Amino acid sequence: MYPDTPLDQINGIMQQAHLAFLSYKNLEGKKRAAFLRCIADEIEALGEELVQTAMRETNLPEARIIAERGRTTGHCRMFAEVAEEGSWVEARIDTAMPDRMPAPRPDLRKMLVPIGPVVVFGAANFPLAYSTAGGDTASALAAGCTVVVKAHPAHPQTSTLVAGAIQKAMQKTGMPPGVFQHVYGSSVAVGQALVKHPLAKAVGFTGSLAGGRALFDLASQRAEPIPVFAEMSSINPVILLPETLKRNPAAIAQRLAASITLGVGQFCTNPGLVIALEDEGLRAFIDHLARIIEESLPGTMLHTGIAQNYHTRLKRALEQQGVQVEAAARQEGTAMQGRPLVASVPAEVFLQNAALAEEVFGPFSLIVRCGSWEWFNRVISHLHGQLTATVQGDEDELKKHPALVNMLVEKAGRLIVNGVPTGVEVCAAMMHGGPYPATTDSRFTAVGRDAIKRFARPVAFQNFPDSLLPDALKESNPLLIWRMRNNQWGKE
Ligand code: NAP
Repeated sequence: MYPDTPLDQINGIMQQAHLAFLSYKNLEGKKRAAFLRCIADEIEALGEELVQTAMRETNLPEARIIAERGRTTGHCRMFAEVAEEGSWVEARIDTAMPDRMPAPRPDLRKMLVPIGPVVVFGAANFPLAYSTAGGDTASALAAGCTVVVKAHPAHPQTSTLVAGAIQKAMQKTGMPPGVFQHVYGSSVAVGQALVKHPLAKAVGFTGSLAGGRALFDLASQRAEPIPVFAEMSSINPVILLPETLKRNPAAIAQRLAASITLGVGQFCTNPGLVIALEDEGLRAFIDHLARIIEESLPGTMLHTGIAQNYHTRLKRALEQQGVQVEAAARQEGTAMQGRPLVASVPAEVFLQNAALAEEVFGPFSLIVRCGSWEWFNRVISHLHGQLTATVQGDEDELKKHPALVNMLVEKAGRLIVNGVPTGVEVCAAMMHGGPYPATTDSRFTAVGRDAIKRFARPVAFQNFPDSLLPDALKESNPLLIWRMRNNQWGKE
């Protein structure tokens, strides 16, 4: 029904993306904002058809799709504000110092400019919020980049509907053709051709470590390497401090079980690893957790591939020596369903087996039982890069372990105290990213206002007459309230 875009069309698509970029990049922020707001309106105008289609293609419930639609239109409107307000370009001005000794200083002005055409891969687990009009697309369009989206083969019809809404918004707001284009590919060849094309200047991806890494390697091997912002694999460790755990084993188990099973575990922030000292507090916690997990129900997963991966990876994890099942949902479920399951392993075994630190995408969590603080610290320092790290510990107990937070800062992009990693707020202070393999570039967030910075690069203008400067750097720009004069930052 949605045949792959022929490979001989990729060059034309990228040429059009490039041509559109040459004019779109110079559009005023308020015009880009009008376009993004119109996209949000057109997505809403799709109404029930979008909700029903997404539900059918992804097996996600109505409430989740409606919430995700709200998040998608919300971030389109948020990036509209960002584009309109304009300070995201981070204008910096060092005015000339002609009398400086021993050499005069030139007038230097720097700002971020859009990077160029961006290739975006729709994600399986967020058919709206990380797909066709997802955070990658909206932030790239806000920055002034053109976008080519490869629909995820698990939800092509949802993707087509949203692409239609974006194309309508392009017409209504007079955007150049080629600002946004949509392609299909159920084989990796289409995505690879887009990433390899010399006119592609950046890539946005959410999915598996194998897929993200393959695209990153491909982009690095090009004659002109380009950045790939891939969000891939994270097991989001949850660290249980013993005194706090002993006081609240039931409440902590309740909170964690809800997070493990949320959305059949198909969130990049799913808590896949729990680390704790082996004592009676942990035993009580596991008993509570086991009761909740046994009562939980298997849920239908997003697509056959994800369900198969869950079963294969879960089986593999459980086959590893030293791993013991602590609890599984009583109902086994079908081949398309993910059965919630929690297992545990001694720290010594976890440290010796790299397979146990791999993501099992679904409602599964592995508890690492540490016989002493020494093992506890070794497990934490052994962790790979993560999107999040969570500590269950009250303030007094946390104060006793300053080295813990210090270590976790090295490991993750977001640190959470007494909460759960699932639930990613879209706001300016959000950091959704982290050291490899959570992402391919730990310096950037994929969620929130700063996501726009992935698709921009700095350019400095030296000794330019005011009339030839971009508006953001002109003396008359009201946003330019901070500038450097005589080596001091000052408010004008
Ligand atoms: P995926 O296999 O990584 O695919 C995502 C997208 O990337 C698809 O459009 C896919 O194209 C493309 N792709 C994958 N490998 C590629 C390659 N070598 N070259 C070019 N394009 C490539 O992810 P998925 O199908 O969504 O899910 C599979 C597994 O990924 C899950 O079971 C889960 O383990 C993991 N996952 C993780 C997260 C997370 O946030 N951590 C999110 C989603 C999925 P084709 O479909 O055409 O192959």
